[in-house]
Amino acid sequence: MTLDEKKVYLKGVPIFSEMGEEFLSSLALVLSGLKARRQQTIFKKGDPGDAMYIITSGSVRVHDGSHVLSRLSTNDFFGEYAIIDEGPRSASVTTEEESYLLRLSREDFESRLEGDPGFAKMLLKVLISRMRNQNELEEKLARSYIKIQKQKEAIEEQNLSIKEAKEKLEEQNFELLNLNEEKNHLISVVVHGLKNPLTSSLTMIDLVMNDPDNICEEHREYAEIIHNSLQRMSKMINEVLDINVIESKVYHLETQSIDLKEVVEKISNIYKHTIKQKELEFTLELDDVNADLNEVYILQIVDNLLSNAIKYTPKGESISIHLSKTEDKILLEVKDTGIGIPAQFLPHIFDQYQRQKHHLQQLDPDTGLGLAIVKKYVDAMHGRVWCESESEKGSSFFVEFETV
Ligand code: ADP
Repeated sequence: MTLDEKKVYLKGVPIFSEMGEEFLSSLALVLSGLKARRQQTIFKKGDPGDAMYIITSGSVRVHDGSHVLSRLSTNDFFGEYAIIDEGPRSASVTTEEESYLLRLSREDFESRLEGDPGFAKMLLKVLISRMRNQNELEEKLARSYIKIQKQKEAIEEQNLSIKEAKEKLEEQNFELLNLNEEKNHLISVVVHGLKNPLTSSLTMIDLVMNDPDNICEEHREYAEIIHNSLQRMSKMINEVLDINVIESKVYHLETQSIDLKEVVEKISNIYKHTIKQKELEFTLELDDVNADLNEVYILQIVDNLLSNAIKYTPKGESISIHLSKTEDKILLEVKDTGIGIPAQFLPHIFDQYQRQKHHLQQLDPDTGLGLAIVKKYVDAMHGRVWCESESEKGSSFFVEFETV
């Protein structure tokens, strides 16, 4: 490479760009050429700095371990601090391909510098302008730091007001919950108050009805009507009490070993008169099954399913209850050949207040809550309940519990 060509490369380096021709010529004289193969390390982080390099062809990467800080190619230079001080290299430089470099050692640079005080002055100027740039950068940084600080304060203020709003909401929510509990409590008190006189009336009318010696046929029929109405009222009261359970969502679940066969037989016995009256064919297929369940809940579940089956099965049709146990599951099925449930209602059958419109025309005074209660109770005991049904053909309600 000729001296003039070397001077052109030197002019490309900012600290040399404004130097006079004479000085550049003397510097060009001491530049040495270096041919580096691909992936050759020029210097490593921490090495003492002793020279700077200008790339005349090829390319290098400046890196810290595997982290690449920058890539440089022809006309770029690196390691320039080393011609001013002896500090260790702050990064490593490795070639990316075969490259040609010009090397200027600190020793040579310093010896040229001694011969030309004008150059020292120029060098100072360049360094001072770099320091100015640095200062401007620092100022910008300080300004954005203040801006960030202000934004942070604004966000903190917002957080505070969000927190206050949240606390207020929680307070209101708590008040609402209290009001709701108070309302539920009042309902319970009133409904419980109705329950006892109703039960005594039912017992009395039962006595009257079942005393054929002292009652004529006509009065017996009246008594039966009263009996049925009282029974419906009693059922509604039980359901209102159950709504409170559903709304309060508190389940103090006490379980004990329950003889499920006995439960089914007990409930079936309660309905035996109605079953007889409706001339229903009634079959029980019950295995001996014991399970850890809540007695009140399981009685209510079987009661609701059987009373529905009776209600929605026309005279002369059939109802059957199956109870079986496999190795890990208990299955109860209440099956009827009644009016069934149309497919569009089936997915909502266990929702609260979901009565099928076509059944409403029966002017039944029930609340449409029975199955919602069944589902709540089964869920509370970690079981599963579902229904299979076909309109006009009948329905099967299944309740399943794990045995463990
Ligand atoms: P209710 O019987 O008081 O209306 P439920 O929650 O017990 O309330 O039942 C919801 C609805 O599911 C009933 O209105 C009825 O339409 C339907 N249903 C429940 N059981 C049966 C059944 N065995 N056969 C046909 N329809 C049923």
